[in-house]
Amino acid sequence: MRKMITGALLALSMGGVSTIASAAEQFVTIGTGGQTGVYYQVGGAICRLVNRGTKDHNIKCTHTTGGSVANINGIRAGDLDLGVAQSDWQFHAYNGTAPDKFPDGKFEELRAVFSVHPEPFTVVARADSGITSFEDLKGKRVNVGNPGSGARATFEVVMEKMGWKMGDFALAAELKSSEQAAALCDNKVDAIVFTVGHPAGTIKEATTSCESKLIDVNNDTIKELAGSADYYAMATIPGGMYTGTDADIETFGVGATFVASTKTSPEVVYEMTKAVFANFKRFKKMHPAFGNLKEADMIKNNLSAPLHDGAVKYYKEQGWM
Ligand code: GLU
Repeated sequence: MRKMITGALLALSMGGVSTIASAAEQFVTIGTGGQTGVYYQVGGAICRLVNRGTKDHNIKCTHTTGGSVANINGIRAGDLDLGVAQSDWQFHAYNGTAPDKFPDGKFEELRAVFSVHPEPFTVVARADSGITSFEDLKGKRVNVGNPGSGARATFEVVMEKMGWKMGDFALAAELKSSEQAAALCDNKVDAIVFTVGHPAGTIKEATTSCESKLIDVNNDTIKELAGSADYYAMATIPGGMYTGTDADIETFGVGATFVASTKTSPEVVYEMTKAVFANFKRFKKMHPAFGNLKEADMIKNNLSAPLHDGAVKYYKEQGWM
């Protein structure tokens, strides 16, 4: 009897030990975007910096593809811990102002961690498509982007302002961002529309694999839209960044942001925030789109949801708040 109890206690305590060991290791998943976009690079860079410190904090970070709207809904559903999302969709999710994208109403538990790179609304057209202005897209074969991406959702907002319907395009393709450059250069579409940071792999691919060019998106309707909310602004894509486009491109844009929810552990968000800012020089070198980032802007610009407690703890420690 005594032996049996000892054995049972031993089993119990061993079980306890292994539970504690696996509970100590926390796996976190960041929702990003297609492999040839910049979100995927943001998630990869953050995870690399976090995973360098796993032995100290026991956090293991991975990242998935998706896009702004899918990432925010994934965080809400508990499938993702954090995600990258456009400033406009962060605003709409938190305020419940886009029920078609966020059907569960206001996402009041949404939290901002920091903002990242600017994302201009980018149109690339084949040189032989006859498209020389944004208005020329009407009647053409256009990749409008995949549902779930913030890019697609923002294009829908622009279409509404322009008075366009999907049926106004000869083809409205819903390809993922990783598929769009090949579709453009295989002459399956005349133009692609993508809200993304620069330089982006997908835009490089589209402008080097075939003759194509970026198009200005700066008519009065767009200027009015850009001025209508804090999460929009006019934006410039520098000339010379992409083959075939030597002059600056004027368009409007949003900002990429890093978000979580109140359910994401403050310790995890603190360690992830610290991993980025304590290695900030290294982070900025991880992708050219991060080159101009500044700490002071990242903790306030383009953030409409309240800051996450774990991020606030780090910013206060640094004397930034
Ligand atoms: N802004 C895009 C979106 O939310 C993603 C851009 C990227 O992949 O870098 O869908």
